[in-house]
Amino acid sequence: MHLYSRKDVDKKALKGARIAVLGYGSQGRAHALNLKDSGFNVVVGLRKGGASWKSAKRAGLAVAEPVEAVQGADLVAMLVPDMAQSGLYQAVKSVLKPGATLLFAHGFNVHFKQIKPRKDLDVVLIAPKGPGGLVRRQYQQGRGVPCLIAVAQDVTGKAHAKALAYADGIGGTRGGVLETTFAEETETDLFGEQAVLCGGATELVVKGYETLVEAGYQPEVAYYECLHELKLIVDLLHEGGLAKMHKYISDTAKWGDLTRGPRVVDERTKKEMRRILKEIQSGKFARQWIEESSTGGKNFQRLLKQDLRHPIERVGERLRARMPWLTESR
Ligand code: NAD
Ligand code: MG
Repeated sequence: MHLYSRKDVDKKALKGARIAVLGYGSQGRAHALNLKDSGFNVVVGLRKGGASWKSAKRAGLAVAEPVEAVQGADLVAMLVPDMAQSGLYQAVKSVLKPGATLLFAHGFNVHFKQIKPRKDLDVVLIAPKGPGGLVRRQYQQGRGVPCLIAVAQDVTGKAHAKALAYADGIGGTRGGVLETTFAEETETDLFGEQAVLCGGATELVVKGYETLVEAGYQPEVAYYECLHELKLIVDLLHEGGLAKMHKYISDTAKWGDLTRGPRVVDERTKKEMRRILKEIQSGKFARQWIEESSTGGKNFQRLLKQDLRHPIERVGERLRARMPWLTESR
């Protein structure tokens, strides 16, 4: 295991470098602003007239069309949505400077060969393990979201040093930068979001809520119990693992946890998790998502709408309106 910190950074690796950040969404905005505050020469590549153009300008960043931004750039960070990256790469491919660094925040397109980078480029990954808003906020607080680092192509012999200097520029070395590969980052990231973080956790919340409401309990009570309180538990886990959670919950909660938890998430669940992982490893998930996205994303939109129609959303809106502080830190 290699975990890098500030002392491992070669400050010379990106000294005087011109960095083009393509995209100004969750990650793009955070990277561009953090890099600028770290003293780098940053230009944001955006479609002219898009909503982000004005907002990046207002934040004091240099803005240009993607092709113009990439011209002469020493490092290009590909921070548009995964499904837009191969199109954008095709558009800027011919203007990339030989020996330039192409940087990704998620390995999807390189790993699943949607982008086959030119052989004269360094290709690296700096994947923050957290959403962009947090990458920005923590940086401003003198902290940093941990990142993963990987190198797919190294033509200059400096690919790793440059990637680490970039991670330092966005604050990642404060939290720790862990060595990985494009394959490991891509497969574990997809698995995490599908089985545990986004897919698993929300299904658990919704099914718990439904169980209580269908048994005749008040929806508001079910909401507090199954959704609102989850944050308390997650914060404890985040800060100190299972031990810290055990320390702060009652013995009654612990006994229920230890004897009932394994009945909810059991061997069947784990078997399904393995199948989900296999679909990621085989490329089946990637093929399905690329197909869906390239044919207009109709099923995607339908499922999204359906998800948001769940009654837990109406109940939540009403209860959260009483707690405006919940969104203060966004
Ligand atoms: P996003 O959807 O928040 O933002 C995308 C930005 O790209 C927007 O500014 C949009 O206007 C712009 N854009 C879209 N299509 C474009 C095009 N064709 N040309 C130019 N600009 C275009 O994206 P994101 O969630 O920040 O994801 C960026 C990358 O970061 C992805 O590889 C993603 O997997 C990775 N990542 C995201 C997170 C996260 O928390 N969102 C975490 C880790 C890694
Ligand atoms: Mg992730």
